[in-house]
Amino acid sequence: MTSSETHVIVGASLTGAKAAETLREQGFGGRVVLVGAEHARPYERPPLSKDYLRGEVGREKVYVHDEGFYAEHRIDLALGRSAVGIDTARHELALDDGERLSYDRLLLATGAEPRRLEIQGGELDGVLYLRSVRDSDALRERLDSGGSVVVVGAGWIGAEVAASARQRGLDVTVIAPGSVPLERVLGAEVGAIYRDIHTDQGVRMLLGTGVEAFEGDGAVERVRTSDGRELDCDFVVVGVGVEPRSGLAAEAGIAVDNGVLVDELLQTSAPGVFAAGDVANAHHPFYGEHIRVEHWANALNQGPAAAANMLGQRIAYERLPYFFSDQYDVGMEYTGFAREWDRVVLRGDPATREFVAFWMVEDRVVAGMNVNVWDVTDAIKRLIGERVAVDDRRLADPDVALEELAHVKNGSVA
Ligand SMILES: Cc1cc2nc3c(=O)[nH]c(=O)nc-3n(C[C@H](O)[C@H](O)[C@H](O)COP(=O)(O)OP(=O)(O)OC[C@H]3O[C@@H](n4cnc5c(N)ncnc54)[C@H](O)[C@@H]3O)c2cc1C
Repeated sequence: MTSSETHVIVGASLTGAKAAETLREQGFGGRVVLVGAEHARPYERPPLSKDYLRGEVGREKVYVHDEGFYAEHRIDLALGRSAVGIDTARHELALDDGERLSYDRLLLATGAEPRRLEIQGGELDGVLYLRSVRDSDALRERLDSGGSVVVVGAGWIGAEVAASARQRGLDVTVIAPGSVPLERVLGAEVGAIYRDIHTDQGVRMLLGTGVEAFEGDGAVERVRTSDGRELDCDFVVVGVGVEPRSGLAAEAGIAVDNGVLVDELLQTSAPGVFAAGDVANAHHPFYGEHIRVEHWANALNQGPAAAANMLGQRIAYERLPYFFSDQYDVGMEYTGFAREWDRVVLRGDPATREFVAFWMVEDRVVAGMNVNVWDVTDAIKRLIGERVAVDDRRLADPDVALEELAHVKNGSVA
């Protein structure tokens, strides 16, 4: 289908690249421009804290598409260039080199960036952050040199970097204000399991404290904690969360609140402008509220959903959130979204590192996490998505197949 239309995507990462691919797959014959501030062609970030960081796989393994893909599909890849302004009335996007691109549809896939620690010594050499492949390369060089690292923050990035650094033989200390790692998402009970996984591997966990300052002569040599300790180190990795990159949208007058606000069709408040991926705070039909998630699977699926809607389809994005993490030999998948819950039900013994945890509200599962247990995600999705009433005892019993529970609706077999 030929077309004189131009669809522009800002952000050449997983969301943007999958959206561009979908525009072509669905037969859009007009011009597709994929603008990206980074110089590398679109790549996936999960390996950057795992096997790529440890030097076990090379660059070729992280790219979303082969090098020739973009030319073959007539996708204009404008790398190393940033979008600096949107004129929503004229449907124009301004780039940092002065070019102005007219668009019929625009997708904002600008992702998120690490929150910076604005404290004394924060600018010292050796205080590192991890978001891009360049960051991962810089961190890998440090891992190659060995020594000791202080990881600030015990969220997913901090936990995975700590694991990779330990696997490379470094001395690792994690500092975090919570009582356990991953506390915000997993809560105290399941977070404690992850604390034990790390301490068993020799990571020192300094929990319930913060960082007061980084000290050193030009480069960081020491971390001062808020409870008065001084920790010598060769470098520091800060992983204290990310902020959605929504400045471009906000300056253009597009509605923003914890990311770019979009409806279930991923449309922003400006006509013809869509947003997807880490930057999008999307109205989710299942939850009946806006949610913004920072997950690989969301980038993978929301980019294509936005592209389909840019082509005039009206498909609500209603997949349940899903993410995964690998630390040492402990792999997990988490399905759902839970800000609060009544209790956690465990299926299997966490000490064996093979179990499933369920976060419950009344008699419903709101989130489930399988750890070193595989092929249960569909059943967990079904339990959550169909709001199946479950009995804690049966849920906890590994002899009762999850599929069986997932097919029981309100006490009767569906
Ligand atoms: C180290 C690491 C490990 C991760 N591991 C996991 C994991 O195990 N499991 C999981 O589920 N998720 C994981 N994630 C999260 C996952 O990678 C993100 O959810 C995903 O990358 C989001 O994709 P995105 O395309 O929406 O945004 P991003 O990947 O942030 O990409 C946005 C892109 O837009 C570009 N950009 C921004 N502004 C502009 C502009 N004005 N002009 C041009 N370009 C611009 C940026 O340079 C960037 O390239 C991990 C993330 C990191 C950093």
